[in-house]
Amino acid sequence: MISDLHFNRSGGWIEVICGVMFSGKSEELIRRVRRAIIARRKVQIFKSHLDERYSGIYHISSHDGRTAEAVPVDTPDQIARQVADDTQVVAIDEAQFLGTSVVPLVTSLADRGVRVIVAGTDTDFRGEPFGAMPQLLAIAEVVDKLHAICVKCGNPASRNQRLIAGRPARYDSPTIMVGSAETYEARCRSCHSVPRKDEEQLVL
Ligand code: ADP
Ligand code: ZN
Repeated sequence: MISDLHFNRSGGWIEVICGVMFSGKSEELIRRVRRAIIARRKVQIFKSHLDERYSGIYHISSHDGRTAEAVPVDTPDQIARQVADDTQVVAIDEAQFLGTSVVPLVTSLADRGVRVIVAGTDTDFRGEPFGAMPQLLAIAEVVDKLHAICVKCGNPASRNQRLIAGRPARYDSPTIMVGSAETYEARCRSCHSVPRKDEEQLVL
């Protein structure tokens, strides 16, 4: 894990924490933010509103009592408007839900000296690149890809398995389903199932 890397330079940079759901991205983001708070950096945390139904909006506290709270946002513009001039660290969770304008946003923050920590799921339920994550991975100075545990076989999981009524969701179901009854499991490549639209939804 390269996450403790310290850039011995005055400028900003971009670090991305990616991987499947349940791989510990939010835990790692929180760990880095907590350490930045301990280092007395001014930190602001943002999180896509879309994720609220899964894990809620969190706040992070250090042992000496200083806290930072994740601000829910819908768009990168809302982040741009709220970042204070003296903020040194900006953390963004669930970045895959934000539009492509997250790329120029994090670029301009890093260019003006901010350390930007971005966490997001890099692949959608089909196993294909999700939102602006590919661009974020390309422009970042540091990338960590985390894995969960496959709930079927116990190997490292690299895929998000979407289930609708307990069955693997078909390839043509929408990338983002809001307010619906789908659930997700972490699975490895060989246990991951995405039936094509002309296939039965098999129970695996
Ligand atoms: P992410 O932000 O990547 O979705 P979180 O940081 O919210 O991940 O959650 C990671 C935690 O999820 C793990 O520490 C573990 O307690 C729990 N967890 C639940 N299911 C799994 C799984 N299949 N593999 C690994 N961790 C899991
Ligand atoms: Zn598996």
